[in-house]
Amino acid sequence: MRSGLWQCSTSKAVQTMSEEKVLSGMRCAIYNRCSTTEEAQNRAIETQAAESVEIVQALGGVICCQYIEQESGTTTKKRTQYASLMADVQQERIDCIVIKSIDRLMRNAGDWHEFIQHITAHHVRLYLYLERKFYEPQDAFLSGIKALIAEQYSRELSQKVNNAHKRRQKKIDGKLTVNNNVYGYRKEKDGYRIEETEAVYIRRIYAMSAGGAGGRKIAKELYAMGMRNRKNGAVSDVTVRRLIQNPLYKGTAVMHKTHYDFELKKQCCLPKEQWIYHENRIPAIVSEKLWQAANDALNARKSKSQAKEQKERSPLPQHCLKIVCGKCGCAYCKRTGSAGNVYWMCGRQLEKNPDGTVCKNITVYEKELEPLLWEQFQKEDMESIKTQTENGLLLLEKVLKKNPCSKDFCMEYGRLREKKKNLLQKYMDGIVSDSDYKLASEMLAQQINQMTEQEKRNDTAKPGQRLFAIRQYLYSEEGQEAVRQAVVQNTLSEITVYPDNRLCVCYRTGACRMMPYRHIHAKMKKRQESIQKIEQLFLSQNRLTTAEIAEYTGYSRGNILQKLKELKQQGRIRYVSMGKNGGCWEDVSTGIHQDKQTKKTDGQI
Ligand SMILES: [Zn+2]
Repeated sequence: MRSGLWQCSTSKAVQTMSEEKVLSGMRCAIYNRCSTTEEAQNRAIETQAAESVEIVQALGGVICCQYIEQESGTTTKKRTQYASLMADVQQERIDCIVIKSIDRLMRNAGDWHEFIQHITAHHVRLYLYLERKFYEPQDAFLSGIKALIAEQYSRELSQKVNNAHKRRQKKIDGKLTVNNNVYGYRKEKDGYRIEETEAVYIRRIYAMSAGGAGGRKIAKELYAMGMRNRKNGAVSDVTVRRLIQNPLYKGTAVMHKTHYDFELKKQCCLPKEQWIYHENRIPAIVSEKLWQAANDALNARKSKSQAKEQKERSPLPQHCLKIVCGKCGCAYCKRTGSAGNVYWMCGRQLEKNPDGTVCKNITVYEKELEPLLWEQFQKEDMESIKTQTENGLLLLEKVLKKNPCSKDFCMEYGRLREKKKNLLQKYMDGIVSDSDYKLASEMLAQQINQMTEQEKRNDTAKPGQRLFAIRQYLYSEEGQEAVRQAVVQNTLSEITVYPDNRLCVCYRTGACRMMPYRHIHAKMKKRQESIQKIEQLFLSQNRLTTAEIAEYTGYSRGNILQKLKELKQQGRIRYVSMGKNGGCWEDVSTGIHQDKQTKKTDGQI
């Protein structure tokens, strides 16, 4: 190979590194792939292939194989050479993978963690020749904390945008921007008009609901009357109920019903207390009185099923980690119990295997899991979390100083300036009269003035104070909890659950640790308690009939028989037949009665 092919920077790298032979004696696999920017260059891949061979030789490595990927892509799926490389790692044929830089491998965090875990598990190292260093596992930890701080920053921003949106909806004057396509109304230039042909049905719906008819009955009758939706189909009972609940029909427009929830990353409904009502802004189709009567009747019918819906969501999305079944290899699925307990169970327990069997691995409760994982983590360096947090805050400070103006202030300010410009244009075109222009421009100037004043008072806009607020949050109880969750989340990659109550916890660094999982779920506890109660009864009395046990403990007969069966299987009690009229239970340890007297009466249990 002629050296003229190489770029200056890398050929220099060859020279300086040739003295320290860091790859000495290692079996190396070279992986070459072009980044998207390099793809444009002619023969870039050949150049890279040649230079990497030269570098490995200079560093004293033994080249086992070289993989040259022709295609680039962001996921690992299409790359065939990559797959062969992974097979080599699996079979431990190599000690080190040599690449130009991290972006040659993947551009997606999930694949990256998987890759690192795979190579660490097989004791293969990764050498980045552009940076002249080995990849170290602790680099992964730093990125975890950085991600948390970035998230907190955008969380704040999201809140501010939501607030600005709310303020705008409160201030509405004149025009309403409600849904275009409201049944019973027709939108015109200056507002909403009642569409009489549709309003007839609306009035009928309200009258029927107030009279005690349910959604399905109303829908049926109105279909017979000739009511159709705008796609010429039947109106469903769900739609009927929705029409009844819509306050628009009594002339009230409701705004600010939803907002963007940062934690759930989607549009969410807000509680009714936060809704903004604009009364009498639209011609009413039904009277306030009838509207209320119809809704009261609807709510009375609804109350039965309501209890179920009131289940609250947990405020923060908890683990995003992967839990795997150690018995069948299926992924664990997250479920929420009736009491709000979050638990995980094997997917094959919820769904049958192809052969019809169900996996019977243990259920894992998040409440019990998290302290366990955190306990393990605390043994590692707590001080390092603090340093990384401070590093992240410093980084954020730099960013904030560059952009001191809050985003929604800039947006709102820009909007007002635009308005002013438009007004002037209209005035010059003669659309707006002298007096109107004067009034409007004064109002606008006042608004702009007010906003700037408020922004000055708004201390969160100053980077120092915003940073202070974020720092305060991070060190508050709530923030520490978030840091804790983030650390656990960002350092863990996978948990494997074994049926004998053991967990294998794998970290992103590739390390694995076994730990016991103690199951102390409330239901199990209660079961244990009732068995203990029965055992205590046998301490005071050697022989007891089922009826007697039921009387002393207060449990049902069926419940007791189940516990007794368990005790019998453990060989602690036995059933003694007393002739035709049944028998009683006896404590085995007392040994008063001879074995010949005991007869198995399987029918009893
Ligand atoms: Zn399973």
